[in-house]
Amino acid sequence: SSSADVDLTDASARARYAQELTAAIEAHREAYFKHDAPTVSDAEYDALMVALRDLEERFPELVDDASPTQTVGGAVDTSTFAEVEHLSRMYSLDNVFSLEELRAWRARTDKAVPAGTRFLCELKIDGLAVNLLYRDGELVRAATRGDGRTGEDITANVRTIADIPTRLDTEFPPAEVEIRGEVFFPVERFTELNAALVEAGKAPFANPRNAAAGSLRQKDPQVTAARPLHMLVHGIAAWTPAGPDHPEPAAQSEVYEQLRSWGLPISEYYRVLGAESEVEEYIDHYGEHRHDVLHEIDGVVVKVDDIGTQEELGYTSRAPRWAIAYKYPPEEVTTRLLDIQVQV
Ligand code: NAD
Repeated sequence: SSSADVDLTDASARARYAQELTAAIEAHREAYFKHDAPTVSDAEYDALMVALRDLEERFPELVDDASPTQTVGGAVDTSTFAEVEHLSRMYSLDNVFSLEELRAWRARTDKAVPAGTRFLCELKIDGLAVNLLYRDGELVRAATRGDGRTGEDITANVRTIADIPTRLDTEFPPAEVEIRGEVFFPVERFTELNAALVEAGKAPFANPRNAAAGSLRQKDPQVTAARPLHMLVHGIAAWTPAGPDHPEPAAQSEVYEQLRSWGLPISEYYRVLGAESEVEEYIDHYGEHRHDVLHEIDGVVVKVDDIGTQEELGYTSRAPRWAIAYKYPPEEVTTRLLDIQVQV
């Protein structure tokens, strides 16, 4: 493998470096999102993203709209699936990798929100983002996130997941509602799945996340039906509550209770907290109990609970400003990056 030095004082050298990072990230996104078969660890992928983000922060002229730092990764495999346009955009999340970075996010956010703002903390489920569309309370469509605007139609596959109601449990369903969440493969069933695949002469999955994605993104829904998939929902979009007796929830936590009342699977692990120290205790706690949960966790998501405040903070081109993902350090570390040494 080649090893090169990048001289960041040279404009064409740093443009080339940005291009190399972008090309590597795009190739990894394709392997991960399209083929459910990553060729590097999540930590290595994240390191490439951080390198590109830092480079663009230092040299803003390198940023363009198509940069991976500005887009939601994940395309549509049109050879297998029909394309579906989401009614409302699906976003990614911005990441922090240390408590220091989290405190900096919190300090920035605290300046922009009313005093005493509460934060909803929840586990970051390492699964696959899915968007459910209910019309008059009936499940009519399900799609992968794709690039955030257009996803893959996986309705028939999603219908095989027992957790997901085909009808919302309410007399007054909204005319239309999109419900977002993660489909995951339970960790305790993963070894058994891979053993069966190997036995059948097929390639095993790299991890439970890819097993979930690979099981759901199947041409034949019978294959999906035979896999123990589950879903937890954590978002709502594109809806108007049905009638004046059903006011719009004012907080993220109220949304979850609304979704729970409709019969949708909600995580039991979320908490609404205030002080920075409480948030950090939550993070510590699940850092220690990462493996006591049914699904894999790659971090904790911290969201401003109040919806009005969320709306004021808004979104960047790829992520809400009112939420942040704190990522736990990887459990097995391999770092190779691009085999490039950077001179600063
Ligand atoms: P992300 O996974 O860092 O965060 C955004 C996603 O988190 C959302 O779309 C949502 O579906 C999900 N999520 C899980 N729990 C949630 C919760 N409680 N509340 C809200 N959202 C929740 O970003 P991404 O853009 O989907 O993917 C990037 C990540 O995927 C990388 O950080 C890496 O871990 C992995 N990845 C790995 C490779 C690889 O080659 N190994 C390639 C691409 C992506």
